Parts: sequence; C-alpha cells; structure tokens
Amino acid sequence: MSYSNPFKRDAILVGGEWIGAESGETINVTNPANGDVIGTVPKAGKAETRRAIEVAAAAFESFKATTAKERAEMLRRMHDVMKDNVDVLAELLTIEMGKPLAEAKGEINIGAEYLLWFAEEARRMYGEVVPSPWADRRILTRKEPIGVVGAITPWNFPSSMLARKIGPAIAAGCTSVCKPASQTPYSALAWGVIGERAGLPEGVINIVTGSASEIGKELCSNETVRKITFTGSTPVGRTLLKQCAGTVKKTSMELGGNAPFIVFNSADIDAAVEGAMAAKYRNSGQTCVCVNRFYVQSKIYNEFCEKLAKKASQLKVGDGTEDGTQQGPLIGEKAVETVEAFIEDATKKGGEILTGGKRHALGHSFFEPTVIKNAKKSMKFTSDEIFGPIAPIYRFTKEEDVIARANDTIYGLACYFYTQDLGQAFRVMEGLEYGLVGINEGIITTPEVPFGGVKQSGLGSEGGSQGIDEYLETKYVNIGGLGV
Ligand code: ADP
Repeated sequence: MSYSNPFKRDAILVGGEWIGAESGETINVTNPANGDVIGTVPKAGKAETRRAIEVAAAAFESFKATTAKERAEMLRRMHDVMKDNVDVLAELLTIEMGKPLAEAKGEINIGAEYLLWFAEEARRMYGEVVPSPWADRRILTRKEPIGVVGAITPWNFPSSMLARKIGPAIAAGCTSVCKPASQTPYSALAWGVIGERAGLPEGVINIVTGSASEIGKELCSNETVRKITFTGSTPVGRTLLKQCAGTVKKTSMELGGNAPFIVFNSADIDAAVEGAMAAKYRNSGQTCVCVNRFYVQSKIYNEFCEKLAKKASQLKVGDGTEDGTQQGPLIGEKAVETVEAFIEDATKKGGEILTGGKRHALGHSFFEPTVIKNAKKSMKFTSDEIFGPIAPIYRFTKEEDVIARANDTIYGLACYFYTQDLGQAFRVMEGLEYGLVGINEGIITTPEVPFGGVKQSGLGSEGGSQGIDEYLETKYVNIGGLGV
C-alpha cells in the first residue's frame, strides 16, 4: 500500500513542474523495515537531466542577480518550513531509510540549521580591495556564483546531505540539479516542496530520480554544469572525477572513511564507551564518519571491550517508527551480506564475537549490534569501510604505533580519540592525517565547521565559512587609467 505524506512526491521536479520520466518507467521505493513498497518515482535518464540542466541555466540568469539579502531570506523561509514540519519530514525519512525517528528528527533539524548558517554566510561573500602595485590603477576581487551545480547524494542522510549542498548553492546564487540515491528519493524530492512553500523561484532547485550512471554522466559531461558536488563512495567519486575532467569542472567530493577511535590508558573509560556507542552505532553504523576501527591501549583493553559489548547488547533494535527504537534496519539485503562477510572473515582469523554477529530475529535487513575482540590487521575491515553495526577492537601498547596504524589507510575523513593527558592530546591530534578530529567526543558535526576529508576521503569542505566558497568563483578586476 502506498504511503502518503504532505511532502511526498512521486514525480521529478524540472523548472517548477512535477513530471514523470519520458519513458513512463518508474522505480519502486521500499521501506527497509518491512519490505513494503511505499511508492514509485520516475526512472529518468539523460533526456530529463539535460532538460533540468537547461531550466537550471535559464533560472540562473535571474537568480544570480538577486541580492544576498534576498537569498538569505529565501533560505530562512525554507528553514522555517522545515522547522514547522520536522515530524512529517522525519517520518518520511524513516519510512524510506529505516533510521529511528529520533535520529531522523535530528537530521531534519540539522539540515534546517545548515540553511540558517548559509543564510547568514550569504551576506558575507566579501571580495577584497587589494593594495595596488601600480600608482594609477586600483585592483579588487569579487565573489561570483559559479553557475549550475550538479548534486549527487547518498541514501544514509537523504535529507541533510542535500541541505549542505542546496544551502550554500542558494546562498551563493547558484541553481542546481539534484540526483538522490534511488533507495531514498523522497526526502530529496521533499526539498522541492520545501522550496515551493518558501517561495523559491522555479528552476532554482531541480530534482531528477532514476538511472544513477545515466544522470551522473550527463551532469558530469554537460558543459553548462559548472560544478559537481558529490557525497558517496570513493569508487563512484573516482568515476565522477574522471567524467568531470572532460569539461574541467570544479568538484567537491565527500567520500568514504575508515575512522579510527583510539582509547588511551589515561582516558575516562565510561565517557569513551559512551562516545563509542554514538560514533559507532548511530544510523546502524551507516555513516562515513562512523568508527571502523577501535584501538584500545593494553591496560584498559579488556574493560573497554566488556563495557562496549554490554552497552551494544542493550541497544533496542526495531522499526524506526516505533517508540524507543535505537537501531533500525540496514538499508537492504546487500548491506547485510557485506556485514556478514566481514564477520565471517574476522572469525576465521581469530576474532572473538562478544555480542551480536548475526541477523536479528526481526528478519528483513535487521542486524544485531556486534562487537569483535582481538581484531587483527589481516582482517578485511582494517582497510575496508564496514558501513554497518560492527565494532572491531584492536589492542595497542605504544602511542607512536597507534598513530601509524590509524594513518595506515587510503582514507582520511573522521578520527576520534580519548585521553586525559593534554600533551598527548596535542601530539596525537597533530599526528593524525584526518580532516575531522574528535577528542573526547564521539559526535562532532555542526554547520559552523568545515566538514571534509583528506587523502581519498575527498576534496573540499561542506559547512563552515569554507562551505560557500565551493560554489563561488573569484573574479579579479584591474582598473587602470585612473590618473592618480
Ligand atoms: P553508497 O555505497 O552509499 O550507496 P554510492 O557511491 O554507490 O554510495 O552512491 C552515492 C550516490 O551516487 C547515489 O545517489 C548513487 O545513486 C550515485 N551513483 C552511484 N553510481 C553512480 C555513477 N556511476 N554515476 C553517478 N552517480 C552514481
């Protein structure tokens, strides 16, 4: 039975019109908690994407001429629409993605906060008057919107990942064509409704669902699109970077992670366990900043393992819409199979399962929160992103060794560590090759800061004062003949 919600649209948005795919084809969207089809969305491709790019380009001509104050007001109105509708937007998110309602509400709220942040930043897109090396010339720089933006987003934060892209794009004066993940298109299509209710001009946000490779290829190769912003896996990021090379587009890439979480002997163990629970099991472990590897110093190794396993075993697994649920289902069957393969590999190589380790009795794609002791370097999750509720715990003795082990990965997004030793806090922070560092904290994302990875975790930052720069070009102006 189809699910209804005031923000749910079963059509794509192109230039203010909600339409179907030219072929009439659709994709089923299912609720991962029970497998029910909750609706269908158009299976659009190249032609619809091209049309969306054209209307975004037409809208850009007038949108770039709006004042920063006007755009800030639009963002504020969008923020208000979200805040007034947190419950229905969160329900839509949970139904298509599975995360507990409390987390879904958190996601809608933080998305709204990003809009507010960028509403404020819109008015601070300062250029410079540069001291001139010529007596009779003056030189200045100004910030200009880059143009039409292509935004590709994943299923794990189907609403807030777009807030981080749409927010700065609008603030800068850009228009966009968005392509959400096929598993979770409704929270993205809801952005069209949010824009409509907030009086955003038509064509500023366009949203196309359908074939990822076809839509992605058009967005990356079309000359009119000036920037691609992508959040997703590193392999797909590499493909998009290659596709963008042909037209030399600016790109922002928020890619995979392999987050270490280090607990030193001096740490407050209970605080570390609490931080570990949030940094590991939030969204059932399906975030790019979720812990992939726990490194715990010898003296406290057993105590930490036991305490984490106890807490993990107490997590209430269930349908995200039910009261008290702390962990929802994984996104689908394939995700469960990946998690099972990690566990099989680890147990073969001497890993000890302290809790969990198998599918949950609830069936579908529910999985038990899992803790694995005696993790070893040879196990697959040492190098590969888990994206599921497994906490592998490695033992270490020396600070310099654990820094080297933490850095021994192609990724460099988030890392965390717990210590009460101030000198150690600075040494370790400076030694870790990561874009985001949590010291004695397991949840660190907020709109005020630049969120972005180093190494193969990505390019560019979202949020902070840096986030808007990704959507701006700097124009340098040299004014001569002034006779001064
Ligand atoms: P995840 O593992 O989180 O699903 P992906 O990188 O596969 O991460 O997907 C993130 C987004 O990228 C989704 O919107 C997906 O549809 C899209 N995507 C996947 N493959 C391609 C591709 N070849 N071109 C463009 N987009 C793609």
